[in-house]
Amino acid sequence: MGRVRIAGAGLAGSAAAIAAIKAGAPVCMWDPSRIPKHKVCGEFLTPEIGPVLRRLGLWEQFLAANPARMTRIRLIFGSNAAESRLPEPAFGLSRFRLDALMRDEAERRGAECIVERVPGRVDVLAHGRQFAATGNDRLFGFKAHFRGPASDAVELYFFDDFYVGVNSVEDGLSNVCGMGSEAGLRRFGFDYDSLTATHPALAERLKPMRRTMEWLTTGPLVYQSRLHDSSAQEFLAGDALQFVDPFTGTGMTIAIWTGALVGQYAAENRPASEYYKTVRDGIATQYQWCGLLRAAMQKRWPMRLAPLIPPAWLYALTRPKLESR
Ligand SMILES: Cc1cc2nc3c(=O)[nH]c(=O)nc-3n(C[C@H](O)[C@H](O)[C@H](O)COP(=O)(O)OP(=O)(O)OC[C@H]3O[C@@H](n4cnc5c(N)ncnc54)[C@H](O)[C@@H]3O)c2cc1C
Repeated sequence: MGRVRIAGAGLAGSAAAIAAIKAGAPVCMWDPSRIPKHKVCGEFLTPEIGPVLRRLGLWEQFLAANPARMTRIRLIFGSNAAESRLPEPAFGLSRFRLDALMRDEAERRGAECIVERVPGRVDVLAHGRQFAATGNDRLFGFKAHFRGPASDAVELYFFDDFYVGVNSVEDGLSNVCGMGSEAGLRRFGFDYDSLTATHPALAERLKPMRRTMEWLTTGPLVYQSRLHDSSAQEFLAGDALQFVDPFTGTGMTIAIWTGALVGQYAAENRPASEYYKTVRDGIATQYQWCGLLRAAMQKRWPMRLAPLIPPAWLYALTRPKLESR
């Protein structure tokens, strides 16, 4: 079997490496960044992560990393709040811990990891978002960890043109992660303490908590999909394949799922077209809903429709169907 060459050692790249090795191929992956590091991410994982990690043989390691469990979802639109129980527990784990787990496992199982940009042609592109932002409507994400009262609810606060998620991660920490337009964030001088203080319920939630790290910023964020026009021979996985609004909390699971698929397909020399069909079947409907919900958010409909939207319903609409694939 030929060597599988992978660009990126994040979640998608490491999953690709592990799956290719499982399928019997030697692996080399390139990534110029130091892993692990803190990344801007909501760090919320829906229950679909369970079967995806089990198939890679990583479930026990994931549980040993001590993820927080969440059993409720709470949506706060302006001054209206609605809450539902989750049908199954969801998880919270920092990127610092999850990325380390995935990359270390790839290396432990035999992947050669080179800390450089990829030098030439590869089989798998798992290099994350690489899309250039155009126009004035640029979005940015931010995040920091806090210590203080933990909760078993994932909370999403929607206000003005921002939303901010709060959920527990490992070891009693909570992640506070948000997104907003560049113009909106400029009004606060990109000062996220001031921004979070303007929403009364969010300010109340954060009052007994202490920030444990500097705020991080990422962006500009561009939603883009290369799934539907992909006739490429190389395999694209994770955010390199598509990036949709992260409020659904499925980006990490889909990165690991698509990474695992491409690793196996590349090792077995299977056609890329077959891979893209499998991925479309798994996530196309979910992504259509995400697009609609994002458009509704831009028109501020959630603020007006808030009392009519059961959080469990919103949550169910945005779940991918990955189990049987
Ligand atoms: C604000 C925000 C909140 C989010 N919240 C959530 C959430 O709560 N839950 C969830 O599931 N998802 C969330 N996501 C999405 C999630 O972060 C991504 O879907 C996930 O990180 C994708 O993983 P990846 O491996 O594809 O890319 P990445 O994690 O970006 O990894 C890509 C890797 O490729 C490397 N690389 C880049 N260029 C090259 C190159 N030329 N050669 C080699 N290597 C290269 C990079 O250094 C990096 O290590 C959020 C995203 C944002 C922006």
